[in-house]
Amino acid sequence: KAKEDGRNTYRFYHNTMGEQGLRRLTLQTELRQALVKQQLFIQYQPQLDLRTGRVVGAEALLRWRHPTEGLISPAEFIPAAEANGMIIPISNWLLRTVCQQAMAWRKQGMAPLVVAVNCSALQFRQGDLVAEVTQALADSGLPAHLLELELTESMLLQDSERVMQIISRLKALGVKLSIDDFGTGYSNMAYLKRFAVDKLKIDQSFVKGIARNADDEAIVQSIITLAHSFNLKAIAEGVEDYATADILLARSCDEVQGYCYAKALDPDAFLDFSLSNQKTTSQVVQLKSGQS
Ligand code: C2E
Ligand code: MG
Ligand code: MG
Ligand code: MG
Repeated sequence: KAKEDGRNTYRFYHNTMGEQGLRRLTLQTELRQALVKQQLFIQYQPQLDLRTGRVVGAEALLRWRHPTEGLISPAEFIPAAEANGMIIPISNWLLRTVCQQAMAWRKQGMAPLVVAVNCSALQFRQGDLVAEVTQALADSGLPAHLLELELTESMLLQDSERVMQIISRLKALGVKLSIDDFGTGYSNMAYLKRFAVDKLKIDQSFVKGIARNADDEAIVQSIITLAHSFNLKAIAEGVEDYATADILLARSCDEVQGYCYAKALDPDAFLDFSLSNQKTTSQVVQLKSGQS
């Protein structure tokens, strides 16, 4: 019996590894077609000003509806797209689509907001990010200050000559820059001096625990203080309840994003969310001025 179990366990393990490797390769192959087959789409997660409650931004999040597997998480397919280089054409398509979407929303009555796009390290190493951003802005007519690029700490640490040049050209265009998942990367923060970023996005792993964990609260407070001392904004990701939001407000966090407010939404649902938010927040403002 033990022998049989052992053999089964081995076989199970063996098959699983094989299947995972195979799935990776299959996904990479299928990703080459995903864009032209229109299986990729974009959802937008609201970002709110914590003090006024107003929607001030939208983070674009990529989605893949696979014909047989259903929805596949970007956490799984982005690495595959980076491995086969497809991340470059996909990112360029996304950048253009997001800029056009922002302008379409304006025509539908939405107040101006910042659209944020996640960047891949490969866009910094290969491809011409600056030219693509320039083109996307020109084609759509979106003002540069309403586009934000989300970078990661590791991007800012590699080959700093080239990165520095790209960053300064992007800043010259007028686009906003933020550092995603801040606090999870490197403890060397010298790049904050060198690169003129606009915002730190506090990683959700710290945000989640602040109502219960003093260490997380200390880390979050430190990042907010750090951001403000560099004249940057701080946004908390992964805000799931109002207890967390209350603490963030008391700690002077500027913006919030999380399931507490909304998950990532299709463009139409985002428009509805945003329009009703505009109505309620202007009512709150009227109420406040009526009282004083
Ligand atoms: P990220 O940029 O840090 O995005 C935040 C992730 O947290 C999103 O997952 C979002 O749906 C999720 N999230 C937001 N609020 C909450 C919350 O309150 N609770 C919890 N548990 N999760 C929350 P998603 O959409 O699965 O994206 C995962 C990652 O995939 C992103 O992390 C980003 O690194 C990457 N990604 C997504 N779209 C793109 C893209 O267009 N290009 C590139 N290069 N990467 C992308
Ligand atoms: Mg992001
Ligand atoms: Mg993040
Ligand atoms: Mg993340």
